[in-house]
Amino acid sequence: MSLSSGGAAPDAVVVGSGPNGLAAALTLARAGLSVTVIEGAATPGGGCRTEDLTLPGYHHDSCAAVHPLAAASPFFIAAGLAARGVRMLTPKVAFAHPLDGGRAVAVSGSVDQTASALGADDAAYRRLLGPLVRDADSITQTVLAPLRSVPAHPVAMAGFGVRALLPATLLARRFETEAARALLAGAAAHSIQPLNAALTGGFGLLLTMLAHSAGWPVVAGGSARIIDALTAELAALGGQVVTGSWVRRLADLPPAAAILLDVAPRQLAELAGDRLPSGYARTMRRFRYGPGACKVDWALSGPVPWTAPACRDTATVHLGGTFEEIARSESAVAAGRHPDQPYCIVAQPSVLDSSRAPAGQHTLWAYCHVPPGSTTDMADRIEAQIERFAPGFRDLVLARSVRTAAQEERHNPNYVGGDINCGAGTLRQTVFRPAARWNPYRTPLPGVYLCSAATPPGGGVHGMCGAWAARTALADLGMAGPGVAALCG
Ligand SMILES: Cc1cc2nc3c(=O)[nH]c(=O)nc-3n(C[C@H](O)[C@H](O)[C@H](O)COP(=O)(O)OP(=O)(O)OC[C@H]3O[C@@H](n4cnc5c(N)ncnc54)[C@H](O)[C@@H]3O)c2cc1C
Repeated sequence: MSLSSGGAAPDAVVVGSGPNGLAAALTLARAGLSVTVIEGAATPGGGCRTEDLTLPGYHHDSCAAVHPLAAASPFFIAAGLAARGVRMLTPKVAFAHPLDGGRAVAVSGSVDQTASALGADDAAYRRLLGPLVRDADSITQTVLAPLRSVPAHPVAMAGFGVRALLPATLLARRFETEAARALLAGAAAHSIQPLNAALTGGFGLLLTMLAHSAGWPVVAGGSARIIDALTAELAALGGQVVTGSWVRRLADLPPAAAILLDVAPRQLAELAGDRLPSGYARTMRRFRYGPGACKVDWALSGPVPWTAPACRDTATVHLGGTFEEIARSESAVAAGRHPDQPYCIVAQPSVLDSSRAPAGQHTLWAYCHVPPGSTTDMADRIEAQIERFAPGFRDLVLARSVRTAAQEERHNPNYVGGDINCGAGTLRQTVFRPAARWNPYRTPLPGVYLCSAATPPGGGVHGMCGAWAARTALADLGMAGPGVAALCG
């Protein structure tokens, strides 16, 4: 079915070609609409691009590198990425966390395997993670949907929700060993919130559950291969992506029955100008963004010389030491300070994927949290944390590229102040994102929808914000058929 009356105007326009923009576009195109995606940057993909950021032949994921959410996402599972040439490389060790003295703790294999390495916390880990991993499919489906809707699996969700609301500081009391507490802190700090904030325990539990159920893979050839697959399918369905074209006003878009915006709420207010009701426009302008990220990419002459073997075979390493050190780092950021010893998330895709760098050489990716809009280059502090657990690392550096939080926003306007999740992960904004409305994707403008990570379920490469927004648009057009419902679980 096509809504266009034979002219060149598309049925639907999507502004922004991040994972959510493309998921929206594909959902609409599969339902039979003609779709044009308009992207401001020179290449499609938003936070899912791969670029030569340091030296020729070293391929770096400019934003997302590790994909537990893509691996678990109903949209990506239905998209059949493997059949489209996307190879997920899933390490046995999902993530590792080095501690001083050459020790490390890791999530590796099953709950039982991981627990058995935790000594006195063996039973506590099994009790906490075992039930969640058993119900992983149900929990994943529910958290990757708008949280205000009635859960499809209320019993499984209740078990998760009771613990997920807890701050990581409270959840950590279930563990007595330094290793288990550090493991939790490393996963929980992905929330970009101080660890005594509500839901930070939930972030930690969800990501650790996914480590056991879906794994924490990287993509062979780089995250951009996901975007290549989505744009190829869109083209096969007759859709197109126009790059290098920043949209400044909604009025400049071609007429279309549905307009989906993969943009931050602040930008929605700017694009719409005085067309938005003042209350909704105010809510969009007041939407809260979280701290920023300062990201560094390196070209290395060899693998990172981690002292602890568990760190050598995984794609993801959490740095920062003990629970207390990581909590201090995240509290400092929340208070507007740059930590001297920052919590860092490190990805080393070339350990699994030799195509990322010339033979025998490697790429490395890391970021730490910083206050919003920070212009501070944290590369030396991040390198000091790596050197702490991998002495000799600096000798391997051939080149490095740094993006401060302020530069992160210049690179992509969705990362306001360098916030990589397009919105603070507070309890309120997790439930009511981007506004307290029954359907978070619909705006007060007929036919205009928000589909970015500022809508549920939030940040990460899973495409579910786009899929749910498109599903809303199709429902409004009277086209929400079973094919669309199947995409979204
Ligand atoms: C440093 C970093 C590391 C990350 N690591 C991970 C990770 O390992 N795993 C993970 O799952 N997630 C990660 N993320 C988060 C993930 O990249 C994002 O949550 C995800 O890309 C959001 O998708 P999106 O489609 O909502 O927005 P984006 O991917 O940000 O895409 C938005 C697109 O819209 C375009 N756009 C915006 N405004 C306009 C306009 N006016 N006109 C035209 N085009 C416009 C932008 O140029 C951009 O291409 C990371 C992000 C960053 C920055």
